[in-house]
Amino acid sequence: MKPLLKDIYQRLDRAALLAELRPEAAGDHYILTCPGCGKREAYLYLNSHLIICNRQNQCGYKKSLWDWTAARYGYGQKETFAHLARLAGISLTEDSGAAVHHDPTRLLRSAQKACAKALFTLTDNPGLRYLRETRHWSEEEIRASGIGYHPGLDALRTALNADHTTEEIDALPLMATKLFSTKYRLIIPFHQNGAIAGFIGRLIEEDPEQPKYRFPKNTKVPLVNFEPTTEVVIVEGILDALLARVRGIKNVFASCTNQLSGTQLDTLTANRNTVKRIRLLFDNDPAGKKGTFSSIIKLLGDGFTDIRVGELDPQYKDLEEYLSHTKKTTLDSITFVPYYEWLATHYPIDEHDTRPSIL
Ligand SMILES: [Zn+2]
Repeated sequence: MKPLLKDIYQRLDRAALLAELRPEAAGDHYILTCPGCGKREAYLYLNSHLIICNRQNQCGYKKSLWDWTAARYGYGQKETFAHLARLAGISLTEDSGAAVHHDPTRLLRSAQKACAKALFTLTDNPGLRYLRETRHWSEEEIRASGIGYHPGLDALRTALNADHTTEEIDALPLMATKLFSTKYRLIIPFHQNGAIAGFIGRLIEEDPEQPKYRFPKNTKVPLVNFEPTTEVVIVEGILDALLARVRGIKNVFASCTNQLSGTQLDTLTANRNTVKRIRLLFDNDPAGKKGTFSSIIKLLGDGFTDIRVGELDPQYKDLEEYLSHTKKTTLDSITFVPYYEWLATHYPIDEHDTRPSIL
């Protein structure tokens, strides 16, 4: 029988789930560090599923345990369900109907291996050519990145058959739609909290009518490769974040567009206890500047104040170009200016300026 969320909430070990919020039992409720404002003002009743901040006017944080978990780990529905079930001591098996595997990353890891192998074994592979010739990645970097090439539906099924059930394989987004096996065949793995969380497909033949990248259906684009850390560098491109990761720079995460989305802001807010400094490094073009501006405003609105903006030399379009040209393994040579200085430079306010004042 499919365990219901109600059963999970009944048996959930709330103190274990919220350990990082330092739950302190006080009669019929826990006192928590508020994920919103960081003060010891949030509470959760023992049988409730809502985290609520006492500072209603100043903070107003109010989220379900489900939403907190999803935002904290960047999880989708299935993973959130599995995480809560585990902390409730309920094991989800194939016949539970929830189709949640004990280790959801195992299938992803197998699929990643199969695609990575295909990248190098299929002859005259356009994906490999793209990475080498257009992106100038070295063979070592390509292998370390884990990027692969969709070998086709039948070949991928054959590669996964030995270790996984047909149901599992069918549920894999790389199998469930033809998009990845026909068009978006460059398969880029992405991570959340250090574990593989899914794949993004990239178009090989550029087509102005189509987006360059595809996430699996129904996925809210996460802050790609996010894991909680004091200083967070946010870039636009998936490949920017991936090349940084390959070079050992562990705090670079991709928004996958030129600004932060609501989901991505939620992830940062849910990790406010850890995330203290935000560094924006969007593409070195007008769209990147526009996105930087709106991201600054959103971050300030969410209470982040230590925000700086990276300034790349005009010759580099983005972090990936910078890293592949300079061969650098740190961001130490990039100047990050405080957001207000950046605003004053890029949005000067003078008597001839018709733009609205933002300060
Ligand atoms: Zn609060």
